[in-house]
Amino acid sequence: MERTFIAIKPDGVQRKLAGEIIRRFETKGFTLVGLKFLHVSRELAEAHYDVHKERPFFAGLVEFITSGPVVAMVWEGEGVVAAARKMIGATNPLTAEPGTIRGDFGVNIGRNIIHGSDAIETAQREIALWFKDEELVNWQPHSMPWLH
Ligand code: ADP
Ligand code: MG
Repeated sequence: MERTFIAIKPDGVQRKLAGEIIRRFETKGFTLVGLKFLHVSRELAEAHYDVHKERPFFAGLVEFITSGPVVAMVWEGEGVVAAARKMIGATNPLTAEPGTIRGDFGVNIGRNIIHGSDAIETAQREIALWFKDEELVNWQPHSMPWLH
């Protein structure tokens, strides 16, 4: 079953949006299979955002992600990678559509509340980076696939 990596960034935690965000993924019909609340190390932040290391915002991004605790999650479901990106909305919350998480709750590209993997291969890399295999829980009975 497809899985994606979702992180509620420090601003989302500080603004007490964790419950609202988890609720959106649950009621959509996806299954939570991994969850931890942690202060991100500089090493993990730099590895996570490695593709952006040449970008001008990289240092500020790493500084921000390590500035406060993050809710790191793995969500499972058919088409979850693309669907989660849709639910999250565009990178810049100012232009993100209303109804999306960033569109509903943010205004600042550097404080855009949430991260979601952008492709299946990226999701696999990010899940392996943030979670050990034994930290992921297989619990959803797949005998009733229509039940969300
Ligand atoms: P997304 O998170 O939507 O996949 P990107 O992968 O392009 O977006 O960028 C990663 C993160 O870097 C963004 O979520 C945002 O926090 C930050 N970021 C991107 N562009 C900028 C920018 N121009 N200024 C500041 N931060 C940025
Ligand atoms: Mg990205």
